[in-house]
Parts: sequence; C-alpha cells; structure tokens
Amino acid sequence: MSASGSHLPTRIWPAIARAMTGKCPACGRGKLFRGYLHQVENCTSCGEHYGKTHADDGPAWLTILVVGHLVVPSALYAETTFRWPLWVSITVWPLAAAALTLTILPRAKAVFIAAIWAMKALGFPMNRPEDRICRVFVRGARYREAYSLFCIARHIALKS
Ligand SMILES: [Zn+2]
Repeated sequence: MSASGSHLPTRIWPAIARAMTGKCPACGRGKLFRGYLHQVENCTSCGEHYGKTHADDGPAWLTILVVGHLVVPSALYAETTFRWPLWVSITVWPLAAAALTLTILPRAKAVFIAAIWAMKALGFPMNRPEDRICRVFVRGARYREAYSLFCIARHIALKS
C-alpha cells in the first residue's frame, strides 16, 4: 500500500522511534534498511512504500551536527586535562569520530525517512489548508531537505 493511501497512523514520534531501531516506521515489524544505508522499496510486513522517500543530505547534516558536538568538546577537554601523548590523540579522536559517524548515520537517515513518511512531505499532493505555506515555501526552496526541515518544524509547531 502506498503511503498516500495508507490507513496506518502517521504520528511522527512513534514513527521516528520505530525507524531508529531499523524497523518500518509504519508498522514497526518489517525492516527499514536492506543494507547499511539502503532503504527497502516496500516493507515486507505491511507493504508501505519507501523507495521514493529521499532523505538527501539531511542524515549527513544531522550526523555531523551530533558527532561534532560530541567529539570536539570531548577532545578539547581531554587534551587540556590529561596531556596525552600525541600518538594517542591522533589515534583516539579520529577513531571515535569514525565510530560515532558509522553508528549515527543510519539512525539519522531513519529519522528523516520516518519524518518524511509520517508527514507525507515528498511526492504527495498537499491538499490540506495547513499545507499552503509549505507549497509556497517549496516553490522557492532549492533543496528538498530544506523543505523537509521546514515541514518538520511546522509539524512540531502545530502539534504543540
Ligand atoms: Zn511496515
């Protein structure tokens, strides 16, 4: 079943929570990825379609944001506090950054796919009155992730 005609609930936070565990945002049973970062075309459990959901640069942006805010302050603190030998520093921090990046990147992609799916943000007609501002924004937007981020912020603002 396509997301546009889905009968499944599309609440954003439960969808993101299911996706971050690698499960289908819609049903939570099927796998979201068939490889490290390659999403499935359709959920094997509920049939929800994810093949045309494009997270673009959003996951990389989120991963850099998180890893940078974890590694840089840690490195600055450790380097000024412990006075490690140089070989330890040039080994530990790149490995820590690489390990965190490899851990966070698929989860960041899952967050974007789930958010895009839950809000039907791409590839779906926006016929609701509250989508009017998104239509105006997307005409001027050069990047889909900017549109996606805008819609996520709008969704959060409307729910709170
Ligand atoms: Zn599913």
